[in-house]
This record gives sequence, C-alpha cells and structure tokens, in this order.
Amino acid sequence: MSEKKYKLITLDELTEKIARYNPDIDTSLLRKAYYFSHEAHCSQKRVEGTPYIDHPLSVASILSDMRMDTTTIIAGLLHDTVEDTETNLDDIEEIFGKEVAFLVGALTKLSKMKFRTKEEAQAENFRKMFLAMAEDIRVILIKFADRLHNMRTLQYLPKPKQRRIAKETLEIYAPLANRLGIGWMRIEFEDLSFKYLYPDVYKSLLKKVAKRREQQEGYINEVAELVKEKLKEYNIPGEVSGRVKHLYGIYRKMQMQKIPFEQVYDVLGLRIITDTKFHCYEILGLIHSLWKPIPGRFKDYIALPKSNMYQSLHTSVIGPKGERVEFQIRTEEMHRIAEEGIAAHWIYKENGKIDTKDARYIKWLRELIHSQKDLKDAKEFLEVVKGEVVPEVVYVFTPRGEIKELPAGSTPVDFAYSIHTEVGHRCIGAKVNGRIVPLRYQLQSGDTVEIITSPSHGPSRDWLKFVVTQRAKSRIKQWIRTEERKQSLELGHRILEAELRKRGLSPSLIKSETMEEVASSFSMKSVDDLLVSIGYGKVSEKQVINKLIPEKKETEEPQIKKAARREKKAKGIRIIGIDDILYHRAKCCYPVPGDQLIGFVTRGKGVTIHRKDCPNLERLAVDDARLVDVEWVSEDGAVTRARLYVETVDRPGILANLSTLMSSMNVNISNLEVKTTSDRRAHLTFIIEVKDRQQLSALAQKIASTDGVLGVRR
Ligand code: MN
Repeated sequence: MSEKKYKLITLDELTEKIARYNPDIDTSLLRKAYYFSHEAHCSQKRVEGTPYIDHPLSVASILSDMRMDTTTIIAGLLHDTVEDTETNLDDIEEIFGKEVAFLVGALTKLSKMKFRTKEEAQAENFRKMFLAMAEDIRVILIKFADRLHNMRTLQYLPKPKQRRIAKETLEIYAPLANRLGIGWMRIEFEDLSFKYLYPDVYKSLLKKVAKRREQQEGYINEVAELVKEKLKEYNIPGEVSGRVKHLYGIYRKMQMQKIPFEQVYDVLGLRIITDTKFHCYEILGLIHSLWKPIPGRFKDYIALPKSNMYQSLHTSVIGPKGERVEFQIRTEEMHRIAEEGIAAHWIYKENGKIDTKDARYIKWLRELIHSQKDLKDAKEFLEVVKGEVVPEVVYVFTPRGEIKELPAGSTPVDFAYSIHTEVGHRCIGAKVNGRIVPLRYQLQSGDTVEIITSPSHGPSRDWLKFVVTQRAKSRIKQWIRTEERKQSLELGHRILEAELRKRGLSPSLIKSETMEEVASSFSMKSVDDLLVSIGYGKVSEKQVINKLIPEKKETEEPQIKKAARREKKAKGIRIIGIDDILYHRAKCCYPVPGDQLIGFVTRGKGVTIHRKDCPNLERLAVDDARLVDVEWVSEDGAVTRARLYVETVDRPGILANLSTLMSSMNVNISNLEVKTTSDRRAHLTFIIEVKDRQQLSALAQKIASTDGVLGVRR
C-alpha cells in the first residue's frame, strides 16, 4: 500500500473528464461557474499558499470522479462563494438556476452553524447533514467531496487543527459514507484520519502490510491462477483480482478482536466478480470443493444484504499450502453498489430518469431517515450511528411480527432498549421463540423475541458486560450514574451529619454558606457534589469538618488509616488530592511501579489501584467521580507482585530454562500454575516479584525470545 499523490487539475482537464461520461455537458455554463468562483475568491489564498480556486476546482474534480451530473459539479465549484465572499444566492440563482442555488444555499447553511460546545457542534452538524440529505442527497455528496479535498491537503494545517478535523472525519464522515454505501470514500476518509490521529501506528502498519504483501503475494497469485483455470474449465465468467484490506480496517480489527497484526488473516484476499447472482453461488461451491472452508467464516450478504445495501459472499478457506485465503464473490452490479452506494443514483444519465434499482435506494434512504426521527436529541442520534459502524446484522422479530435489525451479538437487553428506554430499564427476562433464555443470550436471525418487564426493576451493572449496542450501553450507564449519585448523596449527607453531631455541632451547618465555600475549596461545583464525594469515599468527612471549623484540629486517627499510611510509605504510592485513605492493588491486572495507574474508590473499601488499561475498568468506572489519579514511585529495594502468562510448546526442559532465566535476573517466582492443552501446548501463569515495569518488560522480552515460547503477556 503506498500513499497517493494528488495532482491539481485545470478547467480544461475537468471539462474533458466530464465529457468522457457526459457528452452533452454544457461547457459554457461550466466555464461560467469556474470564472464566477475564481472572481469571488480572487483575494483569498489557501493555507498552502495556492490560489483559493484550486479548492473548489478539486472538489468539482472529485465530483466528476463520482460521475455526478453538471448541476452537482457546478454547485461544487460554487460551494464556498456565498459563505466566504460578497456573493449572494440571488446572483447564483439568476445565472445558474434554482437547483444550483438550492445546493449552494444548503451547503452554506451547513457550514454556518455556531455552537456552544464541540460535542454539541458535532452532533448537531451531523443531524443537520442528515436532514439536508433528506432534501437532496447531492448536498451531502458535495460536502463529502469538500471534506475529502480538505483531508487530502491536511498537512498544511497546524497540528491541533489536523487532529480535530481528522477526528471529526473519522467519527462523522466515514460512518456516514459507510451508511450511504460509498465504500471507496469511506476507506479514504478512514485511512487519512488514521494517518493524522495515530501517525506512529499508521506508519508501522504501513510497513507491516508491505512486508506481508512481499511474503504472500506470490502465493495469492498462485491461488488466483488455480481459480481462473477452474472457472474456465466450468465455463463460468469471472474476473479474479487481489485485494488488500485498508489500514484502518486492519487496525479496527486488531482493536475489536484484541489481536496482533500477525493474527489478522484477511489482509490480503481475492475478489471474484461475475455476471449473475447464480454464478456467485456456483463459484462459492467451486471454491469450497477445492479447499476446506473455515467454519464460521462464511457470510451470505447476498441473501441478507447489509443495511447499506452491500452485497457479496464472503468465505475463508484453507488454501493449497495450508494458508488461509479470504474470498469475496459478487456481481458487477453488487460491486458498483459496494463502491459507489447512494452516489450511483446521481450518476449522469442520458434521460435523467430514475430506474427501478435507484428507486430502491430512495426507499431505503427514506426508511433510514424515518427510523431516526424518534431520536430526540442530536447527540443520541450521533451515538446510534457512530456505535454501529460495521453493521454485521441479525434480523429478529417482535411478537407482533415486526422485523428489527440489530448488530450481530446483540442480546435481549439490546433488543429491549431498541424498542424503548423504559422497556430496557424494566426488563427482567426474555423469551426467544417462546422459551425463556438468559439475558446474555445472543440473538440469531429469525428469532422472535419477547421481553418480560417488571415496573419495579432497574438495569444491572452486569449488563454492561454483554450488551453490544451503543444505545443500550449509554442508557444503562446513564441510569447507573443517576442511581449511584442519588445513593451517594444520601450517604454523604448521613455521614457528614453524624460526624457533626458527634462533635456537638449542628447538622444545619450543611446548609450554611460556609459549606459552599468549603465545597469550592475542594474544587466542587456545589455542596451536593461535595456530599456525593463523601458518599463515594473520595473525600473524608473529617477533611470537610477540618475546613468547616479550622481551629478544631483532629489529632486522633483511626487505626486502619495508620496502617494504610504505613503501607503507602513502604511502597511509595501517592493518591493525588487525597491524604488518608486505605488502598489496595487490584487482583485483576497486577499493577507495578511504572505502569499508568488509576484508582477506583469504593466506600468502606478505599481505593483499588488498577492499571489504566485494565479491561475491568471500563465496566467498573461508569462514573468518573469514582476515579482518582494515582502515582507510584518505586523505592530502592522494594518489590511488587506481578503476573505473566506464558504460552509454550509442551516440551520438557522449557520450564527449567525459564526459571533459570528468572533467577539470573534476580526475579523471585512466588507462584506458578501450569496447564497443558490437547494440542501440546502449555499455559504457564507466573506470579513473580519485580521492582518495576522496566524490569518486568525486560524479563518478558527475554522470555519471548526463549526457544519454545509462543507468547508472553501480562
Ligand atoms: Mn470548501
């Protein structure tokens, strides 16, 4: 995969490009639009120092790549004139007509909106785009082209701006392009954003993919040749070509499945394009008869298209040399839809009529917009679309026979929240096809789902472990946040009241003005916030009273805290902003000095120290109010328990080698568990004593390079 270079285009080249697919092009109107835009922008320059007209011209060029009609291309040339210059829409309407003026007006409106917060801007922007799209999809296509050119020239902007624009592109433009089925644009949006947001990861993946190509291309070509021969033999038409997964697609797969690059098997694959649906299945059969398919990897998106109308057959097989090969099989028409999506509809046509296939698109778009209408606020809407970027879906039924589309892996709880927030909150059980199932049951296409509710029930924190839709996640978290806050507020109030009484002070002090000052001295917005913090155990009631009545110093300390302080000193842990609090280290992630740490406060139990990347945190820390910053300074001679998982081949001598290695590094093994598996592998869990993260990773590296070791992780 190499990076593309973009060349500036001239008006003549643009005209020629359009004429290739639209011989009836109104050249003089196009020229007029060019000079109109040139005139309007004549005093402006792009950040890169080039004349401004290069931007609208490039936008028009992208639109001509999409084979758009002349109206769209002219609107593309004029898209910034009203916003940035003296021009008004009446002028445009007079010269270029109503349609162009409408498009330019809509684009101007889209970019003019001002918002209080970035989040609000993002969400509202997104909703507005959707509404504009409902009026005329071409508004969005021009907006996309505009953003694409800005992304292609992003290197000229200052770093923070690059990041902001790249983030917005990744979060809004890419999912929207995906929803609209414009595959090539989504890929370009994603890879360009990826490059600016995670430059290091991007570069290293680029290298790894190039290397993988070098290693496997020959092999893939061999497989392709075999398939071509077979197609000829059976007289089935089909073009076989190699495909490389795009970088961000690889990155996302690694993230979602928590796997290293080496385990992404579909980086290189083959695509077969044929003429009919029937032939797609025939080719599939042919491939499965040649090589063994990998169970669970076959997807029939022809019979069950993705919600953006993507259609294809996907399968992975164990190829001739025992290596995996992924195939995508589709018709030309399906390929066109996968690449162009909704844009295919606006492609220039001789008679300007919509054919039946395009009418299908319009219907789909209407349904999409309709289904989003009942989402009240823009943020919620954004969440819904953002959360389900790659919709591998299941189709399930309500008891009344209505069909619902949910992301694969969805549970009855996801289903319940998709019906209504209240149904989700009150859900206590579910029946699938008439039988009671656990709430974590994964719905299958064709299931009929009935939710059992009880008015007195609320959601459980455990649900967060298995729900997959963004909607369910955010609703559950919101509920827990509100509940926990309510409870902590009550608890904090009671604790403080009791402490005041104990010292012969009036509980009415809680309502006093001094209390408000105390709250702000803890950087809290309100007394309630302070009480919540007391309830969580993040702030102690004694600290509060010491500030409330400064002259009365507490001298006595409870035993437990003294103990805590001693431990703290011994191990050098500092919890930022908190003095006396009990803490212990989490058993799930075994933090050591040098790790990025975070504390999680539980009333009565003190602070549990986790690694920042501990997977349990996401589930625990629904509420930021319960997290505290923690530092850990390693002290001379002190050691801490850490855990290492090592996978090895099951062969005598390996364990001995490892323990020799550890003692040579002065690492003490305090516990070891060994499990062997039927495929002759051993899983070793070491609990060891190390000084800090540095020593631990040095050790892990040495273990990894030991003969017979297959993998090491914490
Ligand atoms: Mn622009």
